[in-house]
Amino acid sequence: MSDQPLVRVARFLERTTAEGPGERSAIWVQGCSIRCAGCFNPHLFGTRGGTPTTPESLVDRVVAAGTSGVTLLGGEPFEQAAGLAAVAAGVRRAGLTVMTFTGYEYAYLRSSADKGVAALLSATDLLVAGPFRQDLIDHERPWVGSTNQEFLHLTDRLADVTGPDRIEVTVSAAGDIAVNGWADSDTLDALLAGLPAGRARPSGR
Ligand code: SF4
Repeated sequence: MSDQPLVRVARFLERTTAEGPGERSAIWVQGCSIRCAGCFNPHLFGTRGGTPTTPESLVDRVVAAGTSGVTLLGGEPFEQAAGLAAVAAGVRRAGLTVMTFTGYEYAYLRSSADKGVAALLSATDLLVAGPFRQDLIDHERPWVGSTNQEFLHLTDRLADVTGPDRIEVTVSAAGDIAVNGWADSDTLDALLAGLPAGRARPSGR
């Protein structure tokens, strides 16, 4: 049995083209202590909830999905760094790429003494770092919410960070509606206003 920490998973999406370059799997984790004003995912702030999941099973699901890699977002991936480092390393061993979003600044993460943080950085190809600032909405670059957030190429994979912002809407067989991707709050409000109350849940950034 693995000694890697379990990951509290809020949502696993097998395939998406709205969370980074190409077609990717995406894992939203539960829990974020940063709590940016205007965050689209306040339901992911608390550390209670989510589904505790082994890193090995997440690697298996990403590989089985047949996508080009995984995007880790949340919630705050670096607050579950050791477990997600195991996920990222396993995904990379399978020849796939890893993109990680964080609300922490890169300099802060690099100075951390936490081995899990260092391991997740070293298993990440493309890092998007910095808190969401609702006074600095980014209308130009894909996938990021605000202009202060930095793309950091930690390897030469995932070098192309051009592409459109997209919103994806998924309807389950039970009629539950999940939304992911990035749009400004006016666009998202307009979209959600047309959906049944209580059935729609965003998982943005
Ligand atoms: S935008 Fe990201 S870092 Fe900021 S509160 Fe939301 S989940 Fe946390």
